[in-house]
Amino acid sequence: MFNETLYTMNDNSSKRTKIKTLDEFKRYSSCEGYIILVNYREAIIHKSKCSYLNEKKFENSKKEYLWFTELDEIENELENTRSCRACNPFD
Ligand SMILES: [Zn+2]
Repeated sequence: MFNETLYTMNDNSSKRTKIKTLDEFKRYSSCEGYIILVNYREAIIHKSKCSYLNEKKFENSKKEYLWFTELDEIENELENTRSCRACNPFD
């Protein structure tokens, strides 16, 4: 547990799910919810079906991909969030 980073921690209070494999990415990106791209300075919120997101980007990305079902949970758990301009998750 101590070796895990903030974003892979999965205690009872956390609603985040880390998307680790391409199969998981395919599954989550076809569901209703939010995919968050996290790097060292910000977290960018996308709707799961945003056209910006695709398998090739996922495979080549150095960012962490997180899955949330509710916008409230994202704001409770992540700092320095920004919305994707293409999919406008808060609309
Ligand atoms: Zn987007």
